[in-house]
Amino acid sequence: MTGHHSAPSRGVFAFWKGMQLWKQIFIALVAGLVIGVLLNQTGNADIAKSIKPLGDLFIRGIKMLIVPLIFVSLVTGVASLQNLATMGRLSLKTVALYLATTAVAISIGLGLAVVFEPGVGVDLGSAKAVTAKEAPSLIDILLGVVPTNPVEALATGNVLQIIVFAILFGLSITLAGDAAKPVRAFFESAAEVVYKLTSVVISFAPYGVFALMVWVAGTYGMDVLAPLAKVIAMVYLGCFVHAMVVYGGMIRLLARLNPVRYFQGSIEPVMVAFTSTSSSGTLPVTMMAAERNLGVPRSVSSFVLPLGATINMDGTALYQGVCAVFIAQAYGVDLSSGQFMTIVLTATLASIGTAGVPGAGLIMLSLVLASVGLPLEGIAIIAGIDRVLDMARTALNVAGDCAVSVTVARSEGQLDQDVYDTAHVLRADDLGTSATGEHAGPVTETARAVS
Ligand code: ASP
Repeated sequence: MTGHHSAPSRGVFAFWKGMQLWKQIFIALVAGLVIGVLLNQTGNADIAKSIKPLGDLFIRGIKMLIVPLIFVSLVTGVASLQNLATMGRLSLKTVALYLATTAVAISIGLGLAVVFEPGVGVDLGSAKAVTAKEAPSLIDILLGVVPTNPVEALATGNVLQIIVFAILFGLSITLAGDAAKPVRAFFESAAEVVYKLTSVVISFAPYGVFALMVWVAGTYGMDVLAPLAKVIAMVYLGCFVHAMVVYGGMIRLLARLNPVRYFQGSIEPVMVAFTSTSSSGTLPVTMMAAERNLGVPRSVSSFVLPLGATINMDGTALYQGVCAVFIAQAYGVDLSSGQFMTIVLTATLASIGTAGVPGAGLIMLSLVLASVGLPLEGIAIIAGIDRVLDMARTALNVAGDCAVSVTVARSEGQLDQDVYDTAHVLRADDLGTSATGEHAGPVTETARAVS
């Protein structure tokens, strides 16, 4: 008897299963927030902590996919491009858009902080000494992207090195022509398998998001947040404005598409980024959404998105702008216009160098502060609330990657407008079964042509 579901509970179950994935994630996020706050207010932060492993399980699951997913999909994506010139054009557009949006993001952050003065009247008594991070030289950065051992790059998850190797490998498949047919077919088939696995893992997103949200809301009480409420407000407002104006504008004016669909189509990765605070960790979700919600073909998404998860951090840059001005105000330092320029430059570089992992932006903030001679101790105050700031900036980082992938795909004439214009297709109950649906993009078409 006990094993039976009653009819209503079966109805609820079926209703939940049939619901669109983004709605499930959203419900999980809000429920997690409410329960977490309740646990915190009733002195039960321990319970909130004990649920975190469920969230970690989900994050480990998507992290497991990053290396195979980037490698296999980028090899097949590049191999499906006509030639080297296409690859060159794609890279140029992508990097240009990434850099331009990042510079605008910092300026928004600086502007908000200058106008609203979050640092005025803040007590810095508790700040501890922190040492600055050394900036690596440009030559070292550039040389470092070429792996001396590709297997090591894969084993250690060095994304930039994997990207470089996969691009060269994919191009060589095309160059080798007929002789490479079996290799091409193998990678195309492997890509389908990895995509299938990805969709299975992603269908667990609501549960992971719920657990992470309970944990964050349960651990961070209002007492920790209140003194720095203005900084938090600035970062959240800045991220919102940047998404609406810069991404919305880019989709409208550059891509000439309806921005509303872009916002809808990016919602799953944005929510997973918000709770996981890792844009690298979110990458599999971002790639799935770009392809299946936004109609970005794999030949574009497999290059633009991993690159974006590694170097495009608009949220991080914006946050660094806000924090630099905040710390200057808190220490009573007046910044000159030259110093503002320096901040824009170093924060752009620092955000590129920031790894897409939780808390990385805070460490890179030391670089920005050091460049204009601001006291590094300021970082210690921010550290107490950094997780909350990290959520907003990571969400923006990922939203930016999606916007650029749509814009680049569109400018290459490769965006599948039918997919873009159709409301959401990601559903939990079809995720496990239809990864090779009709929207798989040019890779599948190539596969059909070859066979
Ligand atoms: N957590 C951010 C990300 O993964 C990086 C940062 O800390 O700013 O995108």
